[in-house]
Amino acid sequence: MTDSMNNENKEIDQQQEANGAIHKKLAERKTVHIEPVIDRHYQLRETSKAKEIIQKAMDLAREEIPKGAVATYIPELGKMDPHQLGICLYPLKGDKICLGDYETRFTMQSVSKVIMLIVALEVCGLKSVFRKVGMEPSGEAFDSLVELDVNDSKPYNPLINSGALAVCGLLLPEVSFQDMLRYTRNVCSDQGIELNEAVFDSEMKTCSRNRSIAYLLQSKGIITTDVEDTLRFYTKMCSMDVTAESLANLGKKLANDGVCVEDGKRYMSSRTARIVKTLMLTCGMYDGSGSFAIKVGIPTKSGVGGGLLSVSDKRAGIGVFGPALDAQGNSIAGCKLLREISNELRLNLFYDPEWNKEDAGDTVLREMQANSVL
Ligand code: GLN
Repeated sequence: MTDSMNNENKEIDQQQEANGAIHKKLAERKTVHIEPVIDRHYQLRETSKAKEIIQKAMDLAREEIPKGAVATYIPELGKMDPHQLGICLYPLKGDKICLGDYETRFTMQSVSKVIMLIVALEVCGLKSVFRKVGMEPSGEAFDSLVELDVNDSKPYNPLINSGALAVCGLLLPEVSFQDMLRYTRNVCSDQGIELNEAVFDSEMKTCSRNRSIAYLLQSKGIITTDVEDTLRFYTKMCSMDVTAESLANLGKKLANDGVCVEDGKRYMSSRTARIVKTLMLTCGMYDGSGSFAIKVGIPTKSGVGGGLLSVSDKRAGIGVFGPALDAQGNSIAGCKLLREISNELRLNLFYDPEWNKEDAGDTVLREMQANSVL
């Protein structure tokens, strides 16, 4: 054996010793063994245990209700009872769990932007859609028009009002509202979905901000259809009456890449499902999207009717209804509820078992120092 080979072997030995030390330290580390309630095969193992967890989360979430308020800028929405709260969690495999006001009808509002986007991607294609709107979070309120006064700009993304109005401009020559209603009923597995005429009329009388956005989009050549027709189409989409259960059905199809688990039918391409889920994660909660992603980590789209559509990818669809809203226009109790169940049922995309441990930071710091990582 040459000297250089000897040296090389020594280095490898030293390396292994060092590795061994780290491995040993890691092995010594007190880890909590966690059995996921939703296992790797995406099956909800113990429905009764999950139900108990969700019930507890509902009780905690209800405490948030007094901090929020129902939307009043659409007068008809102001009539909603803010104390309602309901959830439906529908795993890809296993029984659905429904609690509280999960059968109550409420208007979809901005959750319908998901449906508009799905249909636009399928009917008009990805290129046409993203010629009109961007893919970036706006960091602005849902009805903001700041970006529209900048030369050559387009709406930040299709999940805010300006972006959805631009998408409606694309859809209008291709499909009727009746077509959209039929698709919504099918993709939500809910033939009871109707247009809520009272909410539609109420919003049409008070939608001067959306009207301004739509005219600005026309002035920029982004909307080429009739502005009033486009506005009516958009507002009708927002006024469809759904339930938390119908949203869970839609979420479940998105979670399964566009295919219905029960009938095996495809409702959108997997590419569309992927784009929609990604945009829900980055832009679905408006200017609350970043903090929601950190705290909850489940792609979600909100609406001012109190609805939340969540997709736990390859695991479950979740629909929530809680009409008291926070400052961003997201269901205040619904967000808390999702935060709790995301943690307890380990649904966070980046699930971390140490997240809730108060001393986790100190322990890790000490461990990193001990391992000479720092
Ligand atoms: N229809 C509502 C609007 O255009 C939808 C907004 C929302 O749900 N955030 O203002």
